[in-house]
Amino acid sequence: MSKVFQKYNAIGDEELENVLKVLKTGNLSQFLGEWGPDFYGGPMIKLLEEAAKIHFGVGNAVTFNSWTSGLIAAVGTLGIEPGDEVIVSPWTMSASAMAILHWNAIPVFADIDSQTYCLDIASVEANISEKTRAIMSIDIFGQSANTDELMRLAKKYGLRVISDSAQAPGSKRNGKFSGTLTDMGGYSLNYHKHIHSGEGGILVTDDDDFAERSRLIRNHAESVVEGAGTKNLSNLIGYNFRMTEIEAAVAYSQLPKLSGIVSKRQKQATYLTQGLGGLPGLVTPFSDPKNTHSYYIYALQIDSESVPWKKEDIVKRLTELGIPGMTSKYQNIHLLPIFQEKIAYGTTGFPWKLNGTESKVDYRKGICPNAERLQDKDYFGFFINGFDLSQENLDFIIESFEKVWQEFS
Ligand SMILES: *Cc1c(COP(=O)(O)O)cnc(C)c1O
Repeated sequence: MSKVFQKYNAIGDEELENVLKVLKTGNLSQFLGEWGPDFYGGPMIKLLEEAAKIHFGVGNAVTFNSWTSGLIAAVGTLGIEPGDEVIVSPWTMSASAMAILHWNAIPVFADIDSQTYCLDIASVEANISEKTRAIMSIDIFGQSANTDELMRLAKKYGLRVISDSAQAPGSKRNGKFSGTLTDMGGYSLNYHKHIHSGEGGILVTDDDDFAERSRLIRNHAESVVEGAGTKNLSNLIGYNFRMTEIEAAVAYSQLPKLSGIVSKRQKQATYLTQGLGGLPGLVTPFSDPKNTHSYYIYALQIDSESVPWKKEDIVKRLTELGIPGMTSKYQNIHLLPIFQEKIAYGTTGFPWKLNGTESKVDYRKGICPNAERLQDKDYFGFFINGFDLSQENLDFIIESFEKVWQEFS
C-alpha cells in the first residue's frame, strides 16, 4: 500500500508554452496607471478576462494580483460608508473579513450551518441592523452557500451580496457556477487552490458598474477618474492590484483544466465517502442537493454525541499512520485578537469608535455557536485539493480510518 502522497501539481506544457510566448515579447505587464487603452492591461490579461467571462458565463471578469485584492475591490465598489456593517461568516480565511475592515466598515459575524459550513440564513437575518449594507458569503470548502435565500434576504432588506468562492471554483448551484449567483463573486488563483497562477484572483459580475469600479480600484483610480469620466468618487482610492502578463498566461492555460480537476476531486470524494460511510460516529461531507461540490477540503465531523473520542486524537493517529493534510481545526475569525480588542486603524478603536459613537457589535465567544462547537469539538478535515491522489492513496486513507476506528473502539 503506497504511503507516498504526490503533491498536487496542475502545471504542464501548456503553461510553459504560454509563459514562454509572453517572455519572448519582453512585455511582462502592460498595465499603465494612466487613462488610455493600457489602463486595462496587456494582451494576456485581456485574453484571460475574456476566457473567464465565457467560462463562468458572466458579463464581466476582472483579474487581480490576488483574490484578497479582488475582495477589497469588491467591497470598495459598493460605496460603503465608514461604520456601515457587512455580515460575514467566521468560517473563512481572514481576508474576507479584512476586506470589509479595509473600507472602515464593521464586520458582523453570523453563524454557519452545521452541515455545509456556509452562512446560516436565520443567523444572517437576525444580524441585520439599520447599518447593514451587504453580506459577504463564503462558499467554503468547495460548495455554494444558500444563495437563493441570501438573495431573498438581500432583496427584502436592500442589501448587496458578495460571494467569496475562492475554494469553490467550478462547483455549481442550480446549474450555475458558484461565484456567479450573487451581485459579485470571485476566485483565488493562489497556488493551493484548484487552478492557480502562483498568486492571483478573478472577480466575476454581471453588473457593469461594479466591474468598472473594481477596475478603477485595481489601478490607481484617483489619478484617472477624470479621464474615465467617473462621477461617483466614493471609495475610489486606487491601488496597484494588477496581475502580470506571466501570471495571466499561466491562468489562461489553467482555466480549461478546471472542470476536469473538479470532476476528479468529486470522484475521489465520492470514493472516500463510500469507503468511510459505515464508520460509527463519523459524519462524511454533506452536499446541498442543489449544489455540486468541488472539494477543496474534504470536511468531516466526529459525532461527539455517539462516540467519546476526541477529534484531535483521531487526527494525530491518522497523521502517524501516514496520511498528510489532516487537520483538526478550521477558523473562527471572530475570535482573532483584532476583533477581540477591536483595534484596527491606530490605537483608539477606529472604525468601531467613530465620531463619538461606539459600535455595539459583539465578538465574544458564544455569538456563533455552530462555528464554535465545530471548531472545538466536532470538525476535522482532509486537504483533498493538496494532493494528486492515486487509487492506492484513497484505499490507504480508508484502511487507515478503519484501523483507527478499531483501535479506538
Ligand atoms: C484563499 C482564500 C482567499 C484569499 O485568496 P488569495 O488569492 O490567497 O488572496 C480568500 N478567501 C478564502 C475563503 C480563501 O480560501
